[in-house]
Amino acid sequence: MVQSPREERFWDKARETGEQEERRARLSGELLRTLRLAFQRSPAYREIFSAAGIDPGRMEGLEDLEKLPILRMADLVSRQKTAPPFGGFEVAQDPPRVRRIYINPGFIVQPGEVDGEDSSWAEALVGAGFEAGDSILNTFNYHLWPFGFIIDKAAKMIGATMIPTGPGNTLMQIKILQSLKATGYIGTPSFLMTLTQRAEAMGLDLRKDFSLKRGLVAAEMLPHSLRDNIEKKTGMRVRQAYGTVLIGCIGYECRHKTGLHVPENIIVEVVDPETGRQVSPGGTGEIVATNFSGSYPMIRMATGDLSMFSADACPCGRTGPMLRRIVGRIEQAAKVRGTFIHPWQADEVIALYPEVYKYQVVITREDHVDVMTFVVELKEETRRAEMIRARIERDIKERLTIKGVVRIVSKGTIPDQHKKIDDQRSWD
Ligand SMILES: [Zn+2]
Repeated sequence: MVQSPREERFWDKARETGEQEERRARLSGELLRTLRLAFQRSPAYREIFSAAGIDPGRMEGLEDLEKLPILRMADLVSRQKTAPPFGGFEVAQDPPRVRRIYINPGFIVQPGEVDGEDSSWAEALVGAGFEAGDSILNTFNYHLWPFGFIIDKAAKMIGATMIPTGPGNTLMQIKILQSLKATGYIGTPSFLMTLTQRAEAMGLDLRKDFSLKRGLVAAEMLPHSLRDNIEKKTGMRVRQAYGTVLIGCIGYECRHKTGLHVPENIIVEVVDPETGRQVSPGGTGEIVATNFSGSYPMIRMATGDLSMFSADACPCGRTGPMLRRIVGRIEQAAKVRGTFIHPWQADEVIALYPEVYKYQVVITREDHVDVMTFVVELKEETRRAEMIRARIERDIKERLTIKGVVRIVSKGTIPDQHKKIDDQRSWD
């Protein structure tokens, strides 16, 4: 761990600020090693690769990554059912030195702590500002969900002290924060908000009575307003990290909040979920990640989350890839003429028009071409309706990069419990 004079902290500065070619070469090597291991020892991967006509011996590196099939959670779950407990994805040698068996919601089983250490969460903690000597309240669950333990290990790796409290027990946690003078918080943003609100209601001064300096939040979206609110009230710095328990950390914010830095021991791709091909630079797609676990490697595991890479350089000096932000789930998005349209994008357009009462995006198909229609109800009838209609169409084209049609309807046309994007296309 290095602390530069400008307060930037790194888990492995040489790697995190290294040259692009070095990074590619290192990741290519790790990928090939992991593929060989998976092919030799994991019956599931052997079957998956063989079915896709992949010979790991012929893979040359990162440039061949797209040839590998995408691994979906549904496939992992069904293989765990037919080949319990781990579905044949495990690569540890017999006898397996499994210290823990983690159980995830949905009865997804995962061997924990076999070989080596995954540094992705440690890198995230340091990047978010944590350091040796911090005492951290860990409010993530330690049972029936592995993340409490996983992040606990990461705290050990950076030399911090963990106070495992799990979620809930708000009053007790406030007492612990006060009496142990905890400097850090790990948990969901909503629980951090609950803690601060309750403490305030008890008449505590969050800056004087607490010693909180930093927080790492995950597992939920972190709205700007919530972060600002907590940072102002407590004086702590709140940063977010994103990942999954099977893959590891996929992205974390440094102090500059420019995006989600991808840890150095993982390959992250943004792909078209239908083809598995990487989208063009900056484009929106599904996050797919590959880790190099020596026990339970995840190779091109799909997350269902949508994001895009940022082309900006971060002032912290990290040179690796950076995701802009998580914009939603693939099941909420619709792909229209090859472009993902997500509810938040449609909201951004409509937010420009205070005259709009309600709206819905309807996707249909006419003569084999996708048609995107914004059905719009106005707050009141106006002679400016035609002008508003034309302006919204212009803004759709500008912001969503594809053409949309706007149809203004009378109030009450759009049902109350409506989906924001109604995809009416059928593909048979
Ligand atoms: Zn940064």
